[in-house]
Amino acid sequence: MNKERHLVVISGPSGCGKDTVVKYLRKVHPEIEVSVSATTRAPRSGEKEGVDYYYMSRAQFEDKVKNGEILEYAQYDKNFYGTPKSEVDRRIENGITVVLVIEVEGAGNIRRLYPDCNTIFVRPPSYEELESRLRGRGTETEESIRRRMARAVEEMEYAVDYNSVVVNDTVESCAEEIYELICKGLQK
Ligand code: ADP
Ligand code: 5GP
Repeated sequence: MNKERHLVVISGPSGCGKDTVVKYLRKVHPEIEVSVSATTRAPRSGEKEGVDYYYMSRAQFEDKVKNGEILEYAQYDKNFYGTPKSEVDRRIENGITVVLVIEVEGAGNIRRLYPDCNTIFVRPPSYEELESRLRGRGTETEESIRRRMARAVEEMEYAVDYNSVVVNDTVESCAEEIYELICKGLQK
């Protein structure tokens, strides 16, 4: 079996529920691991270093990129986000399924590096519901909500590049659908 099938990339507009669904997926299927990204964004209330992200300054992030420690990175809403190599290589070598929750440009770069990775795009049920989830999360400024909604329209066009598309109607059904896609991917 191709080891790259253990690498699962999940994208979707900010606020569609990716992190909530992946957290639930991990609860039900703890054998699936999730990559922790590096970011220059400030932690939101309740977020933890090394659990949600590795938080760092722009200079620290640039150093990591320069040292070849970052597999892919992208700018999103004025901040940088990147996947540390150490989160991925060791796991796929050892046959551990690892999920990257990353935006569409980064997903394109991962696909170039690992052409056989399993890519899944999560859609919200509608733009209205997306905005309501983003607002309901209560973490973004009005300006950031507008930028994220504008970016969502562009991001949705990338859905066709993914192996599969799922709609996050309910967290449980979406997580189960993703689990089935991961299992099917491993059989190829
Ligand atoms: P993302 O990781 O895609 O930015 P989050 O996981 O932070 O999105 O979810 C955004 C908000 O939407 C959160 O407040 C979360 O509780 C809520 N949410 C996620 N999935 C659903 C769902 N299926 N139905 C209703 N609300 C949801
Ligand atoms: P947020 O600020 O909402 O946590 O994340 C903003 C966006 O950055 C989301 O679409 C999220 O999936 C994406 N993201 C998080 N980590 C990474 C990463 O390591 N690389 C890339 N390319 N995008 C990431």
